[in-house]
Amino acid sequence: MLYLHIPFCKQKCSYCNFHFSTSLTFKDEMLGAMKKEIFLRKDELQSKTLKSLYFGGGTPSILKVDELNALIDEVLKYFAFDPDIEITLEANPDDLDAQFLKGLSQSPVNRLSIGTQSFFDEDLKLMNRAHNAGQAEDSIKRAQDFGFENISIDLIYGSPTSDFEIWKENLNKTIEFQVPHISSYALTVEPKTALNQWIQQRKVAAPIEAEQHAEFSYMVDFLKDHGFDHYEISNFGKPGFHSQHNSAYWKSKEYLGIGPSAHSFNGWNERSWNIANNLRYIDALNQNTLAKESEILTEKEQFNEMMMIGLRTMWGVDLQQMEGKFSDIIQEEFQKNIAPKLETGILIIENGHLKIPEKHWFLADGIASDLFIL
Ligand code: SF4
Repeated sequence: MLYLHIPFCKQKCSYCNFHFSTSLTFKDEMLGAMKKEIFLRKDELQSKTLKSLYFGGGTPSILKVDELNALIDEVLKYFAFDPDIEITLEANPDDLDAQFLKGLSQSPVNRLSIGTQSFFDEDLKLMNRAHNAGQAEDSIKRAQDFGFENISIDLIYGSPTSDFEIWKENLNKTIEFQVPHISSYALTVEPKTALNQWIQQRKVAAPIEAEQHAEFSYMVDFLKDHGFDHYEISNFGKPGFHSQHNSAYWKSKEYLGIGPSAHSFNGWNERSWNIANNLRYIDALNQNTLAKESEILTEKEQFNEMMMIGLRTMWGVDLQQMEGKFSDIIQEEFQKNIAPKLETGILIIENGHLKIPEKHWFLADGIASDLFIL
C-alpha cells in the first residue's frame, strides 16, 4: 500500500501537531518532488500491485483534481492497481464544492474521509477548523449526490465546548447520513499547539478524561446498535467498509510513505521516515537524494509494537504467529506478564488471539504498555 502525504492546510487547527504548511508557494515544486520520490523508491515495496492508495495530510483536498490525478498517473507508471483497490482522499468539508466533487467523481478516487469533527459551530470554532456546521452537513450530502458511497466521517469527542447531549446529537446526525464508516478520536492536548497554550493560560478548560470515557462508551454501544463493527479503538465500519488501508497498518503489512514526514515500514523490522520540512524535502529530491532516516527495530521493539497495535483492534494479537517470531526469553516474560491480567479479565484469549475485552478498550494503551519488555 502507498501513502501520499500532502503537506498543506488552509489554516492551523488549534489541536493539531501534524506536519503541514499554510503557504502554497512551493506547491508545484512539492508535487514535482513527490513524483520524483515515487520513482526513486518504486522498488521498496515487494508487491507491485497496490490494494490501497491513500492521500493524507495536511489537507489533500486543497489540491486541484488535476493535480491529484497527475499523482495517481505517476503511481500507475510503476505499480498496478488491484481491481478492488481502495483509493482514499482525506478531504475537508470547505473544499467539497460541486466543481471539486464533480471532477473527483470522474477520477479513480473511490473513498472519501471527511474531516467533519463536529456538527456544532462552538466546537468547530474552538478547534479553529476552516469550516462551519452548515458546511459539515452540506459536504456529506453533496459528496453522496455525486455518487460517493464509501465515505468515512471523522468526529472528535470530549471537547470543552461540548457535553454529553451535544455528543449524542453529533452521533445522531452522523447516523442520519447513513455513511458506512466513522473514525472518532478524543480531543487530545498536544504540546506546542494553540489549544495547549489556551489551557495553560486558563482561557479554555482542559478536556476531562472521565467525560471522554463516558462519551466513548456511549458511542461504542450506539454505533454497534446501528450495525457498525468496532474493529479498532477509534474506528467503526459497516461490514464490507472497514478501511483497507488502516487495517493493513494494524496487521503490520508493508507500506511506502511518500512526501515530507511520511513513514514507511518493510512489514518486518525496518521503519523509515522522511524529513518533516517542506523545503529541505524538495531540495534533497532536486539533487536526486532522499531526506529520510531509518531504524532497524530490535526484537523487543517488534514485540512492544505488536502489543501496542494488536491490542487496539478486534483481532487482537495472534499467539501462534508470536511463537515463531520471538525468542524463549521474550515468550517467558510475556507469559508471566499476561497471567495476572488474564485472571482479572482485563485480557482474554479467544480463538488463539490475545485481546482486551471491548469494555476496557478506552484503557488499551496503558494495558499494552504494561506488557512492554524493556
Ligand atoms: S486540517 Fe488536519 S492536518 Fe490541517 S491543521 Fe487541521 S487537523 Fe491539522
